[in-house]
Parts: sequence; C-alpha cells; structure tokens
Amino acid sequence: MTTSESIVTGIGVGRGLVVGAVRRMPDPLPEPAQTKSDRGVDDEHLRATSALSETAADLRARGVQSGGLAKDILDALALMAEDTMLLADVKNHIEQGSTAERAVFEAFAAFASIMKAAGGYTAERAGDLGDVANRVIARIMRVAAPGVPQSTTPFILVARDLAPADTALLDFDIVRALVTIDGGPTSHTAILAREKGLPAIVGATDAALLIDGETVIVDASSGEIVRHPSTARIDEALLESESRLAARAGATGPGLLADGHEVALLANVGSLKSAFAAVEAHAEGVGLFRTEFLFLENDVAPSIEAQKAEYTAVFEKFPGQKVVVRVLDAGADKPLSFLTDDGEENPALGRRGIRALFAHEQILRDQLTAIAHATASTTADVWVMAPMISTVEETEKFVDICREVGIHKAGVMVEVPSSALLADHILEVADFVSIGTNDLTQYTFAADRLLGTVANLQDAWSPAVLRLIREVGLAGERTNKPVGICGEAAADPVLAVVLIGLGVTSLSMSPTALADVRAEISRFTLVEARQLAERALSARNAKDARAMASFAFTH
Ligand code: PEP
Ligand code: MG
Repeated sequence: MTTSESIVTGIGVGRGLVVGAVRRMPDPLPEPAQTKSDRGVDDEHLRATSALSETAADLRARGVQSGGLAKDILDALALMAEDTMLLADVKNHIEQGSTAERAVFEAFAAFASIMKAAGGYTAERAGDLGDVANRVIARIMRVAAPGVPQSTTPFILVARDLAPADTALLDFDIVRALVTIDGGPTSHTAILAREKGLPAIVGATDAALLIDGETVIVDASSGEIVRHPSTARIDEALLESESRLAARAGATGPGLLADGHEVALLANVGSLKSAFAAVEAHAEGVGLFRTEFLFLENDVAPSIEAQKAEYTAVFEKFPGQKVVVRVLDAGADKPLSFLTDDGEENPALGRRGIRALFAHEQILRDQLTAIAHATASTTADVWVMAPMISTVEETEKFVDICREVGIHKAGVMVEVPSSALLADHILEVADFVSIGTNDLTQYTFAADRLLGTVANLQDAWSPAVLRLIREVGLAGERTNKPVGICGEAAADPVLAVVLIGLGVTSLSMSPTALADVRAEISRFTLVEARQLAERALSARNAKDARAMASFAFTH
C-alpha cells in the first residue's frame, strides 16, 4: 500500500531544497530518580566531580575541533560545568544523601532558574544548561549522551531543538538539512543554519511525526516538509534544487532587478571576521554594523581610541563602499553592563537602544566621536544610525548630536510601529532609515523574539508588518531618501522581492544569504515586485501572504 503525500510546515530558513532520509535525535535522558544514595558521600562526590570536569574538557575539545563561533559557545558551556557555585550546590545535595546524578540534576535546575530570572539574553542561555546537565548525567550513568546520530551517509536531522553542543560538530557533508519541532526564526538552530547556509525548518510542530529512515523533501523557502513524496515529485525537487544551486553559484554582481533597477545588497556584520565573510560574499558594503557585539564582555565603556581602532579595522575592508554603523544597541537580549539598567521587568520594553544611550549621553558622544575619527582615516562611505527610535524628537536629538561631532549621514532604525507610522516626519529630519524587521515584528505582535512559545508570531511575512513597511517605503519615496532593511526578512529571497515592491532601496543580511537573494531578485522587474507586494499586503496572515507571493514566483 502506498501512503499518500502529506505536508508538515514550519518556518523556513534559507532557500535550499533537499531530498533525503530522516534521522531523529534521541529523546533526552529521563530525570534521575530521587532515591537515597547507598554509595557514601565521598564516592558520589568523586563520581559527580569527575563527570563535571570530563564534560567540561570534552566541550572544550569539541570547541577546539570546530573553531569560530562554535568554540566561543562551547567554551562558555564548559565554564558552566565548572561554576564554583554549582559545584558547591552539587556537594551540598550529595551531603544530604543524593546520588551524584540527582545532585547534578538539582544543581543545574537551580542554576537555570537563576539565569531565567535574570531575563533577556542570560535567560535564553538557560536552555543550554539542560544540555550540559544531560551530558554530565550521561557520563555518571555511563550511557551515551543524547546527541546527533552518527552516520556515514547523508541525512536530514530532525530534533526537538538543537543545543549548541549538538550543532558545533555537525558534519555539513552528511547533515543536509535541519528540522526542529520547537524553536523559532531566532533560535540557535536558525542562527547556525543561516551562518552555514544550511537549509532548515524550525518550529515544525508536526515534525514530531517523522519517522527514522523515511524519505522527505525539505523546502526551506516554503517552510514545507513533504512526506511520502512520489517519484515524480522527488525528481522535480531534485531538478529544482539543482537550478537553485546554479542560480546561486552564478550570482556575484551588484543587486539588480530584471529591468536594471538597482537595489544595493549589503551585509550585516558584528566583527572583523564577519566583515571578511561579507567581502567574500561580494557584499556591496555593510548595511548594519552591530557595534555592541564588539563590547559585550566589557565592564566599562570602551575608550574613544579603542573604539576607533575597532571601527577602522572594519571600515578598511570596504574602501569606497557604504558602511552603516549602528550605535550601541544595548539592553534586552544584548545587555552591556556599562549601559543596561539592572532589574527591569520587561527589558525589551525598557531603556534599551537609543533610550539607554540618551540616559548615558557621554557614551553616545564618545562613540560618535570614535566613528567620526575612524571615518576620517579610511575611504569608506560611513553612515550612522540609532536603534529603537520611537519618536520624531528622539530622531532630532540623535541627528543633532551626530552633526555636532561631524557625522555627515545620520539616520535611524525603524524597529517599533510608532516610528513606522511617523516615518514621513522622521525622514524630514533623518538622512535615511533602516528597518529592523526582527524588532519591528516583535513589537508589532508584542511577542518576545527569543521565546520559542510565541515564535509563530515572529514572522515578518505578516501583512501587519508589511503594511508598516509600506508606510516607510511611501515616506522614502515622497522624501526621496533611502529606506533600507537590515532585519532577517531581507535574507528571505521571496520576501526580499516583496520588500523592494514596498519601496525599499537596499537590503542588508547575513553574508551567507546574499547569493540567494541576488539570484532571486534578478528574476523580477520593479513593476512585478510591486504586484507581488500588493498581493502580500492584501493577505489575512503571514502564511497566506507567503503562499500568495510564492505562487506568483513559481507561475
Ligand atoms: C532588527 O531588529 O531587525 C535588527 C536588525 O537589529 P537586531 O537584530 O540587532 O536587534
Ligand atoms: Mg533590532
């Protein structure tokens, strides 16, 4: 009997199309029983401490093997396994009669709740603790740690969610696509997939039904996983996959629509390393330089000289090209201890971004001075913008300070609905705007962009978000000033065309997304992009908007 085709949907990351066999990640270990130990305190303590230090060493070794961003993540996890407060708590539980595995479980759970209570980025990282705890417990119990299945043949990895320790060592010749049941477009899995250019579908609740070994088609551009595909459907998918890869490989020039209309394709960077990646991916410049990433570890504000050195190094990679620098966007998910207020109950709605900078105006002035000095020492065309602007008055204040320190192009980010609705007034003051769709979506739906449970709302395809973007596009056309996009929405090739149709003049994205976007936008004229935008705007929800625009793409 043949089973008929069915579709499982989630949120796609990237543009890739892959046919392959499913391999599922084993389920997590069960919670260790609360039984009293019969081994004695010293023995249990030795079991726990050896497993903790072996796990830390293993995480570090994995970090060395994988390098890059993964190394930083794994080193941070290793530190968690060696935390002195945690070790003291483990000891305490053992002294009260717990087994080593139960003591580790309890101590990590307590540690995780402290991190969750801290909110923001720290709270997000609390999930990683569960993974470290599982590794330690598996070691104590001498069972295999739950992790990525080993295989010598390519497969599609299906998991509830992927922890950094799982993804750090993925072999991308073997793992062809990632599917997660939980997680959203800003989850660790999505970030990794984007960084590696690997097709992924996240938040696909029904992927829990997928069975080990079954063949599926994963189409990241539509967010669909096709189960039980017919042979004809598989052949069609393989052809389509090849044509997407060929289009990607052939795309290297500046961003051009089919009618020659120019849309600059820029890169989002946060470090010198990502600036190199942007150059390699033929970015036409930088549309978002996230300066706060350079200073996340700092306890005190960096000096003008130190900042000048960091900025100059990045600017030098883009001689004669545009580099849009964003001043420190501290708070919420990216706290900077020298700028962020402690203890706000809702940090995403608190004094983040420009609000924190106005509260510490000298830090803002120093940063702008450092940017102005770095600009003077290179040939990059440097523009500067402020995050989280929500009023015209904030825009005026920011632009005035920029002018005072000698910044020539001063703009603002549109990340909250108020500034989208006021874009005409804002553009009378600012030289340009850049729309941060990650935050604009979060604030349109009042849904924390980092929270898996509301990830379904974090979708920039939503007509609510698109209508706000249209307001900004119209304001840009009326004032004849540039309107960029620098949120993740720009990295979705179909959505990129819609955004151009809404009046956007440049798109900035992770360097790995540039080739796909460049290839896709070249297939449409401006008139067609506007038609696609109209269709998407009229939809009832994100799913319909995506489907209506994608339909036009393939017909
Ligand atoms: C955004 O919010 O879309 C954006 C580009 O800024 P960040 O992701 O750094 O908040
Ligand atoms: Mg933002």
